[in-house]
Amino acid sequence: SAQRFSGKTALVTGAAGNIGLAVAKRLAQEGAQLVLLDLDGEKLEKSKGEIAALGVKVETAVCDVTNYGSVEAAVAKAEDTLGAIGLLFNNAGYQGAFAPIHEYPVDDFERVVQIDLVGAFHVLRAVSRRMVKQKFGRIVNTASMAGLQGPPNMGAYGSSKFGVVGLTQIASKDLAPYNIRVNGIAPALMGPGFMWDRQVELQAKTGTQYFSADPEEVKKQMIGSVPMRRLGDIEEIPGTVAFLLSDDSSYIIGVTLPISGG
Ligand code: NAD
Repeated sequence: SAQRFSGKTALVTGAAGNIGLAVAKRLAQEGAQLVLLDLDGEKLEKSKGEIAALGVKVETAVCDVTNYGSVEAAVAKAEDTLGAIGLLFNNAGYQGAFAPIHEYPVDDFERVVQIDLVGAFHVLRAVSRRMVKQKFGRIVNTASMAGLQGPPNMGAYGSSKFGVVGLTQIASKDLAPYNIRVNGIAPALMGPGFMWDRQVELQAKTGTQYFSADPEEVKKQMIGSVPMRRLGDIEEIPGTVAFLLSDDSSYIIGVTLPISGG
């Protein structure tokens, strides 16, 4: 495919996960060298192998996005080894528990906000302060349709992702003067896979009016709510992220693009 990212270094968080790896591969195929960050060091090494096989330089750093010092150290190390970071896919996340607000576990709520919202801010801050100095940056934050529509039983996740949508709008304004564009994506029901199975199982267990107690029925209910009547494939995400990181979207800032089948 076209080499839109030749000579650029891209940093991807959540790079041991499904979406992070799929996007990292696409950026590598289009010529970028990669810095992969994740909390899971073992899976991260697997991702590293897959990117190296594409023939580009790749570095990894194990990092906990909830800890600013850990993020800052990883970004500094990345810059030392691969040079200025021009592209950021800010994507680490955790889905949390499924329960109505009056029963939602307090410690899990705080954990989800720390990873999905505060973590996204930590990465955005550590990377953008370097982009400001070089007067170049392209950033995509991973939100979710849960951050645009407020699904039931996902209080912590949905609230955090609404926060990411807001952070994207605000950062796009704060950073526009420095030739840094910030946008976001909002995937919806992606599958098959772990996140899909987990949400079907856990929504069924909530016993709330919105979903059947039978997971097979929940699948039908969820897919029935999608105008395109199917799940999204992980491979339908990288092209959109690459578009937002490339000059093909040169006059677009502050948007969170749904990848949701309608
Ligand atoms: P995934 O679980 O495969 O990947 C998430 C990755 O984030 C994991 O590798 C995990 O180790 C990492 N991570 C978690 N906590 C971390 C921390 N504190 N520090 C550093 N890394 C951490 O899931 P995915 O589907 O690839 O999700 C990627 C992003 O997409 C997430 O932000 C998720 O909320 C979002 N999303 C996913 C879907 C979906 O259906 N898969 C839908 C909408 C949004």
